[in-house]
Amino acid sequence: MDTIVLKKQDPKIKNDIAARTGAEKFKLCFTCGTCTASCPVAEVNEDYDPRKLIRMSIFGMRKGVLSSDIIWMCQRCYVCYARCPQNVKFADVMGVLREMSVEEGFSPKERIERIEELDRFAQDLRCNFVEQLINPDDKQRKKIVAMVDEKLNEKK
Ligand code: SF4
Ligand code: SF4
Repeated sequence: MDTIVLKKQDPKIKNDIAARTGAEKFKLCFTCGTCTASCPVAEVNEDYDPRKLIRMSIFGMRKGVLSSDIIWMCQRCYVCYARCPQNVKFADVMGVLREMSVEEGFSPKERIERIEELDRFAQDLRCNFVEQLINPDDKQRKKIVAMVDEKLNEKK
């Protein structure tokens, strides 16, 4: 693990985050790990760890947090929201980190909208896969391939 040089960090970030609607309680996190243990993204991506982002923010790692690809991985399913013993509302904290990332120039401004589109696409794709699982059909299979192909070829 990399050493954190505290004097090079920006301790103000924790207050900047906590000042925004939805993230007021984020400093109450006591790193219990319940969010990570119940998160569907963490289940498939070993680098995804919600409590680590909170610790990094508390340690003042502004650039590390706001430029992290990880803040875009959350699917905002609210599972952690319901289970957090400290009522941290991590899904909303993630929304705040995304806004700050865009505002401070770490991410392009259209990314928030593109991620929302991607989440809708993922749900649509899942429904089509379930349909194919239950009622296998060549037409349905071609539809799924076309959906993925179209998404991959969308203009960036
Ligand atoms: S469940 Fe809540 S308190 Fe526990 S690590 Fe996650 S955000 Fe922090
Ligand atoms: S809202 Fe995000 S961090 Fe929380 S469980 Fe869902 S995907 Fe994981």
